[in-house]
Amino acid sequence: MKERLQKALARAGVASRRQAEEMIRAGRVRVNGAVVAEMGVRVDLTTDRIEVDGRPVDAPPAFVYYMLHKPRGVVSTVRDEGGRRTVRDLVPVAERVYPVGRLDMDSEGLILLTNDGALTHVLTHPRFAHEKEYHVLVVGEPTGEALQRLQQGVSLADGMARADEASLLMPSQNSWVRVVVHEGRKHLVRQMLEAIGHPVLRLVRVRMGPLRLGKLPVGHYRTLSPDEIANLRKGLPQTMTRPRTIAIDGPAASGKSTIGELIAKRCGYFYFDTGVMYRAATWAALDRGVDIRDEAAVTALTRQLHIEVKPPTVADGRQYTVLADGLDITWQIRTPAVDAGVSPVSAYPGVREALVAQQRRIAAEGPIVMAGRDIGTVVLPDADLKIYLDATPEVRARRRHLEILARGEPSDYDEVLKAMLRRDKIDSTRAIAPLRPADDAVIIDTTDLSIMEVVARVEQLICPAGRPSDAS
Ligand code: C5P
Repeated sequence: MKERLQKALARAGVASRRQAEEMIRAGRVRVNGAVVAEMGVRVDLTTDRIEVDGRPVDAPPAFVYYMLHKPRGVVSTVRDEGGRRTVRDLVPVAERVYPVGRLDMDSEGLILLTNDGALTHVLTHPRFAHEKEYHVLVVGEPTGEALQRLQQGVSLADGMARADEASLLMPSQNSWVRVVVHEGRKHLVRQMLEAIGHPVLRLVRVRMGPLRLGKLPVGHYRTLSPDEIANLRKGLPQTMTRPRTIAIDGPAASGKSTIGELIAKRCGYFYFDTGVMYRAATWAALDRGVDIRDEAAVTALTRQLHIEVKPPTVADGRQYTVLADGLDITWQIRTPAVDAGVSPVSAYPGVREALVAQQRRIAAEGPIVMAGRDIGTVVLPDADLKIYLDATPEVRARRRHLEILARGEPSDYDEVLKAMLRRDKIDSTRAIAPLRPADDAVIIDTTDLSIMEVVARVEQLICPAGRPSDAS
């Protein structure tokens, strides 16, 4: 699609249209290698090579939005390990869409699917809690007094909960009730009605913010109208305060450290890779001849170990310098022996306890991008922004293989893949802090994305209204 250069730049999120015009006039913009300083040139973001100050401008992903009337018995995830039907199966579109928030397997009604990560983030983050309206079939006929109690607040196992509105829709032996809440706690509405003595038989979400389910039949989906999309966006703050803590989790070689470091540099955060600490503990055990299987000994050693991560002290391609009791072990923690030992070591509760405490202290010091396996779920469950990076095992193994070769070390792709799968399995099945996306994480599949495409998406999450450098 051809469009005017200044419009294309604005759409790609480089600057406002007026600022883009100034950039063009100032000769800062090149199209296919040639400076374009006059207005009116038409370009196609997907085929023309556009640069601003020598930096390539990526085409913004085309965003799509679908509303689904979820039936009962369908899980609101993209993939289900147990092979159950997912909302994604019911919305068989080509784009890689994922559900915004969750709706219990037993619940029905409106669920939104999109590939617009920034919108997902603002819609699901507790800071931007918006109204959700449910029609609920309950046992019996709640009295006006009981419904009043819902609005005054009822006590649940995990604290008080209050409905914004509660009314009787259809009184009967089993009655339909209308409930509006703005919180996203799990099983909230079910528990609230249980608390007033009316267990839930059916739960249908009929509205999310300005978005209404309307007459969409069960199991069907439709695209949102431009008005609906505009209304959804209208409710969102235009200039969001920037997140202070950013958690990045994901399996090995999903891009955490590359992306984390780039984001930190471009947006002014401190970058901290928690994997380094587990690696340092593993290295220390190997170095001192402590048997990796000896949980008590490894835990005791980790508790005593003084791990420091500092800016690079040697210019040999390292991201940072790692010291263990003052000794530089930056490269020693990247050997196959450490790779093989680190997952068993990090499954020990005592090891995690010692290291997580240090990680929380580090995160409390200032704006931080912290990468690992359990940052969004355990270390910083209140992180302002949670990102979960993923990619196919083959792509991840290839990335790791090329990294090792680039360091001038020998590497065998099949071995790398095997070791990685072994590590992923231990990391995601261990009893304590297993690798999994936090419920409010934005999941980015990096399989087919370039590094800069992932960076652009994350930057958009940090500052949906513009580039982070534009933020005040
Ligand atoms: O990120 P990296 O691959 O360097 O991490 C090495 C290992 O450390 C992981 O495979 C995992 O077992 C462990 N780890 C963890 N929790 C973290 C970070 C890393 O268990 N937050």
